[in-house]
Amino acid sequence: MIYHDIIIVGAGLAGLRAAIEASDLGKDVAVITKVHPLRSHSGAAQGGVNAALANNPDGRDDTPDKHAYDTVKGSDFLADQDAVDVMTNEAPARIYELEHWGCPFSRFKDGTIAQRPFGGAAYPRTCYGTDKTGHFMLHALYQQCVKRNIKFYEEFFVMKLVVEDNQARGVVALNLGTGDIVSFASSSVIFATGGSGRIYGKTTNAHVSTGLGVAIPFWEGVAIKDMEFIQFHPTGIIGKYILMTEGCRGEGGYLLNNAGERFMKNYVSEKIMELAPRDITSRCIQTEINQGRGINGGKYVYLDLRHLGKKKIMERLPGIRDICIDFLGVDPIKQPIPIHPVMHYTMGGIDTNFDGATSVRNFYAAGEAACVSVHGANRLGGNSLLETIVFGRRAGEHAAKNLKAEKEKNTRIAEKAKKEQVKYVEGLFKNGGKENPYEIKKQVSTVMDDKVGIFREETNMKKAVDEIKELRIRYNRDSRPVKSGKIYNYDLLWYLEMKGSIDIAVVIAAGALARKESRGSHSRTDFAKRDDDNWMKHTVAVFNDKAPVITYKPVVVTKYQPVERKY
Ligand SMILES: Cc1cc2nc3c(=O)[nH]c(=O)nc-3n(C[C@H](O)[C@H](O)[C@H](O)COP(=O)(O)OP(=O)(O)OC[C@H]3O[C@@H](n4cnc5c(N)ncnc54)[C@H](O)[C@@H]3O)c2cc1C
Repeated sequence: MIYHDIIIVGAGLAGLRAAIEASDLGKDVAVITKVHPLRSHSGAAQGGVNAALANNPDGRDDTPDKHAYDTVKGSDFLADQDAVDVMTNEAPARIYELEHWGCPFSRFKDGTIAQRPFGGAAYPRTCYGTDKTGHFMLHALYQQCVKRNIKFYEEFFVMKLVVEDNQARGVVALNLGTGDIVSFASSSVIFATGGSGRIYGKTTNAHVSTGLGVAIPFWEGVAIKDMEFIQFHPTGIIGKYILMTEGCRGEGGYLLNNAGERFMKNYVSEKIMELAPRDITSRCIQTEINQGRGINGGKYVYLDLRHLGKKKIMERLPGIRDICIDFLGVDPIKQPIPIHPVMHYTMGGIDTNFDGATSVRNFYAAGEAACVSVHGANRLGGNSLLETIVFGRRAGEHAAKNLKAEKEKNTRIAEKAKKEQVKYVEGLFKNGGKENPYEIKKQVSTVMDDKVGIFREETNMKKAVDEIKELRIRYNRDSRPVKSGKIYNYDLLWYLEMKGSIDIAVVIAAGALARKESRGSHSRTDFAKRDDDNWMKHTVAVFNDKAPVITYKPVVVTKYQPVERKY
């Protein structure tokens, strides 16, 4: 029986930043994480984090407003403009704070934080630490947590959010090391559980990014938003799906088809070329491949860095070079990199306002698990790391300032919920067991890859919804964790992870099928145009065991009226 005033689930950038804030406001805060904090997916982020610092000589007149406009346009006008303003206005302070906390950003010769161009941005505003930006940021924040003696529960796997009377009361978690199920009572809960990439089979995301962190509150009645907007990153290495950062193109890399042609010129203006936003660039690459202009007629094109020269590659993109050598046997100094688009990011997530608050009292969310929404239908590169530190901090602040500690009551409620979870897990092992859960999940991922991908269309998506629903029934009825046993029972963990993935897959596919337009990453061949009259609205899904209940809510428009998106 454990109690802390504020429990944060997730030790990536959003969770750590929330923890620092709540701790600095004098609250008793603890962080629960299923992996060591430094193994959170944030540590894999490469290319950089956006803020209008105006350090780059080519972007001296950059401002938070210009950053906001690029973000809203990039979002295909689905982002909430008040939230975007909050993010871009707070960005410089968050970056300087990280700098003061020792984050080793790369520098310009004048000593200022270096900034590189990124897709969809009119100014070079992406701050970076070579191509290991997330790693550096994560270490800086973790050190700040250690300095503050913030309590961490590592290798605790949260399986339930405890809600009573529409108010969060804590969580129930599996202690992976012992197999015990433990109650964590609290008066406030913040979910910073990261992305949902592993719902798909081909993704740049870490294995831990399964979507369960979105599913857990969803199962408790918390609304989730805009899940159909899935970002496909233009450049994942073939067969391995490992990310080649947008920084490669930011530093001047080319995209080439089988004729050695920089094909982007056929799709966007010569000024933009490879630095079009991700949704557009991915569609261009996929079109080249679909029309037979992939390399050797294959399903990939080249990302060519050779002309950047050894010095620049070693200085700015050393990690990219290592990955190519280790995983492909290709040295980008001498050879082009074979790439294709790959699932990368979930724009949607737990429906929050810009203080991280949700429809359940004292329950907050931040980071990739949340949908504020600042990314709308398409996120700009570099805005996601920014989102974690801006809205992580705000969620921590809001939770701390609105805290009404109810230790005894919440402990009682959480303890009761724990007992129910113990029974639930015992019951799982008595399930049918004639189906293998990993096989079913694999089939769900294949359906998502094939039918809810870059280009979408009614017949296929209908099939996807039906197939996933059917697979979901089989999963819940006929499969169970493969092995029993308590200590480090990863089969139990994966059973629950995949259950979460499947329930969120249903929401993605159903939301995509329902949205009869093309906007940002949601590109339908049968409804090729954006339709502001009917569809400039957020998709909101609420859990129902038969099928998610989908409604819509308006987009917040303040300064920028929607216009056609041209690059
Ligand atoms: C390869 C890659 C490169 C990227 N590069 C960039 C970039 O250059 N710029 C940019 O802006 N964005 C980038 N992104 C996106 C960005 O890194 C992520 O969106 C962001 O780091 C997510 O941070 P987070 O704090 O929300 O979650 P994460 O860092 O994913 O952390 C999630 C945390 O939640 C915990 N957790 C989850 N579920 C549970 C549970 N049930 N119980 C206990 N703990 C749980 C995990 O242990 C982990 O600590 C990149 C993403 C990838 C995959």
